[in-house]
Amino acid sequence: MAESPCIEPAFIQSELFAQHHILALFTLRAGGVSPAPFDSQNFGSGLGDNEQNIHSNLDQLIASAKLPCIPHQAVQVHQSHILYCNGSGQMHDYEADILLSDQPDTALAVRTADCLPLLLVEPISGISAAVHAGWRGTAAGVAKQAVQGMCERGAKTQHILASLGPCIGSCCFEIGADAATALKNSAESAADFVQSTADLSQINRLQLLECGLSAHHIERINACTACDAEHFFSFRRDAGQTGRHLAVVATACKP
Ligand SMILES: [Zn+2]
Repeated sequence: MAESPCIEPAFIQSELFAQHHILALFTLRAGGVSPAPFDSQNFGSGLGDNEQNIHSNLDQLIASAKLPCIPHQAVQVHQSHILYCNGSGQMHDYEADILLSDQPDTALAVRTADCLPLLLVEPISGISAAVHAGWRGTAAGVAKQAVQGMCERGAKTQHILASLGPCIGSCCFEIGADAATALKNSAESAADFVQSTADLSQINRLQLLECGLSAHHIERINACTACDAEHFFSFRRDAGQTGRHLAVVATACKP
């Protein structure tokens, strides 16, 4: 595991990616304009928050994080389809839980509240991906699909960096028997992290190792979104009445 990330007021920045001059971040609750229960940096549309608040939150993040352009986002459906994105982004109508780019000057983003946000980059080729991994996506091998998609575009697994962001921890993520079976089968040794609860971050880490990523190229941010109400939205804790975080990787920050 890499060094622990530095904490910014409105987002956590990946130290591992920063070492390679790539910007990757995970937003926190603070720093936005949305009212309760979306307070205050909500990026989720159609939940009850005013659309103007979501636009304001995004504009503010683009400015404060110095993103090169508007991030691409897709309709997330807990599967493992890939949307290929280039250049300045937007909110797409397409359903995809993996956004992938092989071009510079591109920002990719996924929204989460308990699900795992996974950011990937291969610094030599500049190929990047943003991945939304809940238990269904994890069971479907969404992390493996993302790495495969990157390699099909020319990335080398031994050079890929991964940052696993804040998600619901094994302390809080109780699962049913069907989910447990599916997760145990999703990676070698995944059973070590599945009982009546599951550790999404560790299971996705195992999937990445199985793909051939180096252990020292994988950073895990230790936080439980359900335990830490001050910093994180949590779908489970708040019974669905909550906001969504944004996880962003931007390839234009190479020197
Ligand atoms: Zn917890």
